[in-house]
Amino acid sequence: MSLHRVVVVGGGFGGLQAALRLRRAPVELTLVDRRNFHLFQPLTYQVATGALSPGEIAYPLRAIFKRHRNVRVVLAEVSDFDLQGRELRLKSVANVTAPGTIPYDTLIVAGGSHYSYFGHAEWSEYAAEVKSLESALAVRSRILTAFESAELEPDPALRASWLTFVVIGAGPTGVEMAGQIAELARDTLRRDFRAIDPRSGRILLVEAVDRVLPSFPPSLSARAERSLGGLGATVLTDSTVVGVDGEGVTIDRGDGVPERIPSRTVVWAAGVEASSLASRLAELTGAERDRAGRVTVEPDLTLPGHPEVFALGDMVRVRSSDRASVLLPGIAPVAMQQGRYAAMVTRARLRGRSTPPFRYRDKGNLATIGRATAVADIRGLRLSGFIAWVTWLVVHLWYLIGFQNRLLVLIRWSFSFVTHGRGARLITRSGAEP
Ligand SMILES: Cc1cc2nc3c(=O)[nH]c(=O)nc-3n(C[C@H](O)[C@H](O)[C@H](O)COP(=O)(O)OP(=O)(O)OC[C@H]3O[C@@H](n4cnc5c(N)ncnc54)[C@H](O)[C@@H]3O)c2cc1C
Repeated sequence: MSLHRVVVVGGGFGGLQAALRLRRAPVELTLVDRRNFHLFQPLTYQVATGALSPGEIAYPLRAIFKRHRNVRVVLAEVSDFDLQGRELRLKSVANVTAPGTIPYDTLIVAGGSHYSYFGHAEWSEYAAEVKSLESALAVRSRILTAFESAELEPDPALRASWLTFVVIGAGPTGVEMAGQIAELARDTLRRDFRAIDPRSGRILLVEAVDRVLPSFPPSLSARAERSLGGLGATVLTDSTVVGVDGEGVTIDRGDGVPERIPSRTVVWAAGVEASSLASRLAELTGAERDRAGRVTVEPDLTLPGHPEVFALGDMVRVRSSDRASVLLPGIAPVAMQQGRYAAMVTRARLRGRSTPPFRYRDKGNLATIGRATAVADIRGLRLSGFIAWVTWLVVHLWYLIGFQNRLLVLIRWSFSFVTHGRGARLITRSGAEP
């Protein structure tokens, strides 16, 4: 008898957990991703600021499943779904010819999200983000290049614009980025240049609402803002970005008068939009879709009319038992719990058992600001400073995939803590350049 065929799309936080929980089940499992590695996105900003190297936060998907003969990893991009015929359509990536289709009995889709520029796609050329490894490396080069250019720039105004760094969006990623750039300028690079003093750099964190870390309790937002100030970063709240170009950012501080900030280095850490796979699934099933492109799934994470298709993670909203559509935070624990849940339901169905609806268990919220400074909201327990930072450190090491990566990152962080150094301060060029 042939085995039940499960196909998981996406080897990110949600998809990987689903695949891990199914690897010992009596199923034929296929994991499809357009990348050959799992990326630990919560630490990409550390690659962008030279604290970690790319290989330390990514792990090859094949290596994770090398001992499980029933698991097949396919490097390909999913381009469409045939839900009636129960097939995925694939597109080749990286010059690896993909099979045209893959059949399934159960499909689990966890395609994630990407940054959105609020309808201004043209800003993306100047305001880089740190979601992928490639973009994190591009940001690293831009930041380091800015210091190099400032060193050689005779014009004081231009030099100042090279030494002005603007981070847009004060969620955890924006706060972490601003804190890290400030540490780089104030600490790591302070003796490296001759014509400039990197400590004179301005690091601005721009946020549209009235506080940083809006998903945290106000008291922790205030702590984070004070810590950022202590590192030399300036927070501009109630400030909406209305323009970004190669020479700076224009903001509106609520008075309708545009304010220009000359800056050569802008980092985008604002809104996100669901993977286009979510929109496609919504079109095919008639499921609701929200403004950020997330598809609404049933309380058991399946698509309406298709109990054999699960969608989860950043690309979904979940319908609660009273039919309201609930938006869970776009964070790794939500995707991981949903991935494990989809695997549990799949296994239970194979045994003919029923399962309860998905329930998210909120274990808390963490954000780091800089060296030995973080904030944590763990089930009402509010921590800040060193304790929160150690908690952040332990949690991130725990969830990082691969023993070797955990060890390497621990060594790197310990070394940086003692020496104030950052070993990966390399300006690398994109493939097209000589
Ligand atoms: C910079 C940054 C920092 C973050 N920091 C934190 C943090 O500190 N704590 C926290 O909890 N969360 C954090 N998050 C959020 C967290 O990373 C996401 O919530 C989580 O990754 C969502 O998991 P997912 O499985 O839905 O998607 P992802 O982890 O993004 O995985 C999606 C996968 O699908 C693949 N894929 C997408 N489309 C296709 C396709 N068409 N065909 C084939 N494969 C495809 C992708 O290659 C990827 O591997 C951060 C996110 C970012 C961007």
